Amino acid sequence: MRKLIWGIVEFREHELPQYAAHFRDLAGGQSPDTLFITCADSRVVPNLLVSTDPGELFTMRNVGNLVPPATADGLSTGDLSEASAIEYAVKILKVANIVVCGHSGCGAMKAVLAPAPLDDAPNLAAWLDHARPAAARLAQEAATSAVLAPYDRLSQLNVLVQLEHLMTYPDVRTAVARGTLRLSGWWFDIASGDMYAYRPASGTFAVIDRRLADRLIGRD
Ligand SMILES: [Zn+2]
Repeated sequence: MRKLIWGIVEFREHELPQYAAHFRDLAGGQSPDTLFITCADSRVVPNLLVSTDPGELFTMRNVGNLVPPATADGLSTGDLSEASAIEYAVKILKVANIVVCGHSGCGAMKAVLAPAPLDDAPNLAAWLDHARPAAARLAQEAATSAVLAPYDRLSQLNVLVQLEHLMTYPDVRTAVARGTLRLSGWWFDIASGDMYAYRPASGTFAVIDRRLADRLIGRD
């Protein structure tokens, strides 16, 4: 906590002056381009990783970057928090992108694969049910990458499953069909600092370097 409190003073005295005008502009409202869904893991720092300023990312974080699927009526089958963030982003903010970003070494994915049940963490155990379809797929399907540890392969499959869960929300489906919303699956490798993007054509995740960036942007 000491580090956080002094961090506020540090920000106030050294960083705030260069952001002051930007924050004044933002005080009246936000119009972020992207809903960024990622894990609560402290090592994943969205704004740092994609070099964004305040106001540019609408961020939803939870354990395992999970999206409980919706019923046919568009109501969440899990926690309302995620569904609310999706509704707000798509219907009110009208974001043009939703990114689901998983990461290497994810504790949630390790817990899903652990043989022993999480008896002492019943809420967490129930929440991780939303990642179970990915675990089932890990057992059945060809791996997205044979060189990764099982929990990292699960983490990548989990990104794809959560993108499918997003498409169970009628508002998301409609916006995607209209071409006003694009869904992307990303995966962050903590050790290398590389961000990967899912490439549907190859069925694999590829590093977003300058060359892939050109191709990803070319899709616009
Ligand atoms: Zn995680």
